[in-house]
Amino acid sequence: MVERPSSDPPPSAPAAVPPDWPRRVPHPVLAVCRRLRDDGHAAFLVGGSLRDLALGRPLPNDWDVATAAPPARVLDLFPRAIPTGLPHGTVTVVLEGRAIEVTTFRGDGAYADGRHPVAVTFVERIEDDLARRDFTVNAVAGDPLTGALVDPFGGLQDLAARTLRAVGDPDARFAEDGLRPMRAARFAATLEFDVEPATRAALARHHDVFRRVSRERVRDELVKLLGAPRPSVGLRLLADSGLLAEFLPELARARDFAQNRWHEFDLFEHTLRAVDAAPPGPVRLAALLHDLGKLDTAAWSDDKADRTFHGHEQRSAELAAAWLRTMRFPARDVEHVAALVAHHGVYYDDAWTDAAVRRWLRRIGPERLADQLALLQADLVAKGDRPDVPAARAAAGRLAERAAALLAARPALDENALAIDGAAIMRLLGIGPGPRVGEVKRALLELVTDDPSRNTAGELERVVRERWGRPDGAGTTEPA
Ligand code: ATP
Ligand code: MG
Repeated sequence: MVERPSSDPPPSAPAAVPPDWPRRVPHPVLAVCRRLRDDGHAAFLVGGSLRDLALGRPLPNDWDVATAAPPARVLDLFPRAIPTGLPHGTVTVVLEGRAIEVTTFRGDGAYADGRHPVAVTFVERIEDDLARRDFTVNAVAGDPLTGALVDPFGGLQDLAARTLRAVGDPDARFAEDGLRPMRAARFAATLEFDVEPATRAALARHHDVFRRVSRERVRDELVKLLGAPRPSVGLRLLADSGLLAEFLPELARARDFAQNRWHEFDLFEHTLRAVDAAPPGPVRLAALLHDLGKLDTAAWSDDKADRTFHGHEQRSAELAAAWLRTMRFPARDVEHVAALVAHHGVYYDDAWTDAAVRRWLRRIGPERLADQLALLQADLVAKGDRPDVPAARAAAGRLAERAAALLAARPALDENALAIDGAAIMRLLGIGPGPRVGEVKRALLELVTDDPSRNTAGELERVVRERWGRPDGAGTTEPA
């Protein structure tokens, strides 16, 4: 990425903070500040909420207010506030459906473990509170009642120049708190800012501190990073600084890992492009992990002319599930993302019969259709400039249309949707519960997948009697 000189902001950058910025502050946030002010305490908007207002970005969901009032006084003024982080001086005031975090001005003492300050001390002046913050653009305060801005570290100039710069000495900042390098990558991607060179260089020098940060906190920053317009910006910073290898070593190893003639890019570049092309959410996570198994499954084709990656989808799904669990993603995400990865290789052509499309829908799970198709398109885009890519993308579009049309007819895609149930099968065959019932159900599902019009009670009863209802109880579960 090319560094932009800070004196030369791009045309999209605001020349200055809009003077009427307080007018966009929602009423409940103003009410909280006014209450504090009326009680004799300074109150400022800080952090992401002020930054986003200053940038003219969409209004944030989280509002951070910093105040000189001590925590106990804040709780007196807002009796229904939730003491979300009282040891750190934070309470959450919920007003008109908005969560407003009110934190007493504080200075952090020493950081012994690279994660948390040893002692939190409350301070009198907003400037001392801003000094503990990570990046200059996060270290600006604004009084929404007067419009006054407090900017001791040049954060406004960095905002205008779209530069991410550590407050003070970047090595000191990153050594204090191992999460900050991850936050740097996150902000570079979400804000689309360049990282100032000294800050960028320091990212690579604090791996030991980074290792002590909990997986959950790394995960939360990564999820935010993946919500950026182009997550590749942040992922590249993490790879360049060596931090990616600390929590996702397979992807770090994908750098310069050559693919085959179907691909313009090496495995790392391909993955980053797939992530950028995917919609935010689980599909992006799946894109990030979809090809990790290529490292283990790479082989040479029989004629030794090119590389193959047979079985890489399944291997990637195993690696993805294991990694997602390590990072403490919720079980639902693990399952969904690993399933998307497992089925990301879709080798569709128009010769597929309707039954073949229905079997594919059964395999992926119809509830995953939209995400699976989105992943497929992202994967195809990420192959780059290859002659077969446009045709493959068009074919994937036709698969989407056919799948939607077939699903509209509500076909039976699992055994619970069969027109007869296990009890009926047992009654018809005069048998009790056992594996036989399952075998019959599976065979019936194949039958109605081939021809959904046969999924009626009358027809399935007839088939069961005819095919399995011999006096000797034998019969075949071979598909008809
Ligand atoms: P967003 O809310 O969009 O994620 P944010 O900048 O508000 O971005 P938060 O995590 O909500 O980020 O933190 C609020 C503010 O607290 C930050 O802007 C920064 O000033 C300060 N801060 C948060 N985490 C750290 C940290 N690890 N080190 C130093 N300062 C921090
Ligand atoms: Mg915030």
